[in-house]
Amino acid sequence: MEKTHALPKPEAPIGLAARPTRSQEFYDRIKEKFAEERDLRLKYRPEGTAQYLTDLDGTFARYEIDTYASEPAPREAINDTVECLFIGGGFSALLTSARLRERGVESIRIVERGADVGGTWYWNRYPGVACDVVAYDYLPLLDELDYVPRDHYAKGPEIFAHCQAIARKYNLYELAVFQTTVTSTVWDDAAEMWHITTDRGDHMKARFVICANGTLSKPKLSKIKGMETFKGHSFHTSRWDYAYTRPDLSGLEDKVVGIIGTGATAVQAVPGLGAAARELFVFQRTPSSIDIRDDWATDPNWARKLRPGWQAERRARARMQPQMTEAQKARSAAMSREEKIRLQENANIEAMTRIHQRIDQIVKNKETAEALKPWYMLMCKRPCFHNDYLPTFNRPNVHLVDTHGKGITEINEKGPVFEGKQYELDVLIYATGFEVQKTGIYNQIKGERGLDLNDKYSTGIRTLLGIHTHGYPNLFIMGGYQASFQFNLTDMLQAQGDHIAACIDYARRNGYQSIGAAPGAEEWWVQEVIRHRGKTGRNQECTPGYYNFEGESQRRQDGNYNGGFFLYCNHLTDVQARMSQHFVFNRK
Ligand code: NDP
Repeated sequence: MEKTHALPKPEAPIGLAARPTRSQEFYDRIKEKFAEERDLRLKYRPEGTAQYLTDLDGTFARYEIDTYASEPAPREAINDTVECLFIGGGFSALLTSARLRERGVESIRIVERGADVGGTWYWNRYPGVACDVVAYDYLPLLDELDYVPRDHYAKGPEIFAHCQAIARKYNLYELAVFQTTVTSTVWDDAAEMWHITTDRGDHMKARFVICANGTLSKPKLSKIKGMETFKGHSFHTSRWDYAYTRPDLSGLEDKVVGIIGTGATAVQAVPGLGAAARELFVFQRTPSSIDIRDDWATDPNWARKLRPGWQAERRARARMQPQMTEAQKARSAAMSREEKIRLQENANIEAMTRIHQRIDQIVKNKETAEALKPWYMLMCKRPCFHNDYLPTFNRPNVHLVDTHGKGITEINEKGPVFEGKQYELDVLIYATGFEVQKTGIYNQIKGERGLDLNDKYSTGIRTLLGIHTHGYPNLFIMGGYQASFQFNLTDMLQAQGDHIAACIDYARRNGYQSIGAAPGAEEWWVQEVIRHRGKTGRNQECTPGYYNFEGESQRRQDGNYNGGFFLYCNHLTDVQARMSQHFVFNRK
């Protein structure tokens, strides 16, 4: 992308372009070390995803309470009918609603658990929250809203405000229902409508339902012995307690703070915590890779020159298949599959080696520097970009507690205990991430003949394009499994939103009451997903994390479609062009 102004760039981010230049023996040794570190973690946690607590009830229910809004005011139960109902009010709903409005759909309702739209950007307000995807690509509908982000990388509050601006522009607040959780979505075979019930006693009806509840929306906690006995204060990063910390974190000035987890969230929160707390303990199980954050303020001259449609052009470029030169094609053709994989792995190891070198250059304490080095291939875990995270460990009040892959396994009334050492804390922050969504969270979805979606999926996920599933007409799932994976999630959501709007528009224009995936089309897609899985041994070889289901790698179709975004978008277009082959329609 064009650099938007002449601010000096500190140094280039590391990325995967590094060329392997060392002996194969070097790379093989590093691969062995990667395998040892992965095995160590798998041995500690054979239970896989079950190591986490995702149903936060009883003592743990407080970790899910909305800290950003007051108790919901009492209201009458809603008993009405809308045309399109979105479960969740984040980017999925906002993007798709915009496309539906453009096609003349008037009756759109968002039902949202939070007190506003925004989804992940509503919940994640921890200090330092920002997005690692370039803002001109990540923030959707920039052409439509005639908005240019303030910086190369947007911070959380700007993104949240952008979500609100989209909702205002497309008049989505009018029918929206907040502080309300959908508890069941049941298809009425006779009326060909969905019945939606909520935790507020509502009983709404909708012709089309879009599950827009996000991929990582439900906070999870690591199951740690004795965690409920901790007498200090504690909260999850997605429910930041600013009443306790104060907005400028001055409430932590005299506090000893602990944070469990060192994923993308913690990497952004730790610098602020380190600067504010009397003492900070960072409890690490696996370090993240920390690359340079190449950020700058948007140049107003560049912004002024942008022509309408500039973001659409960038999005179109992102969808294009990377082109190889003739020389590259010839080189690639001359290599065996094994040689190609080796070359990619070696380049990846080079990138990780430079991540290690950067740590050595920044972190003064040698032991801490060693502990902060990630030993896995880049992209096994979400890569992070930050200029202040590593330097924070040079502060005298900040202590890294490296648990060598084991993690914190015990907490008592005073705080965590690791290898017999007690860490006495005033406040403990869980940066332990989110459950990966498989079906509607908090929500029981029943399709034709009352079949529960969880039961349908019990022998493996079955969808068409990750969006439709046979037996659930007029239901659309966004951002879920069997869809493509994109580092810029909004590219993916926009592609899905465009597709969903096209399907709904097709049904409306042709007088169909319902549109549902045909069984053959669903089977075709499941086989496509299986065909593209296991192309590399990456899932098995990676250190455990939510990307590879914590090491439960043999999941056949229960994951993303790995054919790439370009092919995925082609399939979307193709399905739209041949609707009657892929869907079953019903007239009322
Ligand atoms: P993650 O799931 O990525 O991280 C959870 C962390 O908790 C891991 O470091 C994990 O260790 C650690 N952990 C779990 N249990 C224990 C334990 N008992 N003791 C010590 N550590 C423990 O969650 P995040 O909230 O950090 O990030 C979720 C996702 O949200 C990201 O992957 C990204 O997609 C998105 N995000 C993006 C941001 C951005 O754009 N910059 C910022 C924030 C989030 P281990 O690795 O060993 O499992």
